[in-house]
Amino acid sequence: MTYHATANSHGDSSMIQIIGVIGAGQMGNGIAHVAAASGFKVKLLDAMEPALAKALATIGKNFDRQIAKGKLTEEDKASALGRIDTGTDYPMLADCDLVIEAATENEAVKKQIYAQLCPILKPEAFIASNTSSISITRLGAATDRPGRFMGMHFMNPVPVMKLVELIRGIATAEDTFATVRDLVLRMSKIPVSAEDFPAFIVNRILLPMINEAVYTLYEGVGSVESIDTAMKLGANHPMGPLELADFIGLDVCLSVMQVLHDGLADTKYRPCPLLVKYVEAGWLGRKTGRGFYDYSGEKPLPTR
Ligand code: NAD
Repeated sequence: MTYHATANSHGDSSMIQIIGVIGAGQMGNGIAHVAAASGFKVKLLDAMEPALAKALATIGKNFDRQIAKGKLTEEDKASALGRIDTGTDYPMLADCDLVIEAATENEAVKKQIYAQLCPILKPEAFIASNTSSISITRLGAATDRPGRFMGMHFMNPVPVMKLVELIRGIATAEDTFATVRDLVLRMSKIPVSAEDFPAFIVNRILLPMINEAVYTLYEGVGSVESIDTAMKLGANHPMGPLELADFIGLDVCLSVMQVLHDGLADTKYRPCPLLVKYVEAGWLGRKTGRGFYDYSGEKPLPTR
């Protein structure tokens, strides 16, 4: 399939050579990986020193996977890793042309990060946030450069998923948007443009579907296995919605539904009570060993 609408960009991102990434967790290490593999110099910052060591180990393992699949060579890995610097101090980001913030999903944390970043960052540099749910307009307003601020929403796992949703805040300059869009193409990703409304496009559509699958289970319409099989074979989805919910994390699913419910004030986004119960029980999916499936054995077993 070709993506004509996104294939030609009018922006020019050639001024972007050094990319800063703040937050070295699941998303930040993936963004650093892809940026380094695309030839950019990367400065990866985290507040926690151990998170940086863990991120480098993960990046190394993910490169090995790509080498095993024949997509990259050992030399590609070595040169990409050589382009990644890590640290905990903001001055290391001073010469970045773009900083992508991928820290914990908490508005106060993100605003605190911008307060530390803006004074040391050169004025012409761009800032993007990888937030899944916080208003880009509000985050941009907390920086000294709302015109050079926008949303860059990568998908998990970043090295594998092609899509990046690009979100304009109300103050984002057109040139900022076009430049970042061109950069996404240079990172071999496919950009789509989304407006600054709760959960943007993918999560706005995906999470209500998952929530509906939980309602379908809650009301006894089908078992875990029948719901997932029905959607895999009946709608050609590669994963069933409950399996996918466990993969995303049930706490994350609930929090996106709450963002939709609060932000759009429509009862159709009411989180399913069964989803709430699972989160209360600490059954958060794969990461805790139990969600709609039990992961303690050799293969996942449906729990209902
Ligand atoms: P994570 O918990 O794996 O990583 C967050 C990292 O941020 C941690 O390493 C933490 O130490 C660091 N951090 C916290 N406070 C910091 C600070 N003040 N300064 C520097 N670093 C700090 O989280 P994640 O899943 O990688 O999510 C990061 C962002 O990406 C969030 O905004 C989230 O909404 C978004 N996102 C997540 C996913 C996903 O599937 N996980 C998908 C798309 C977008």
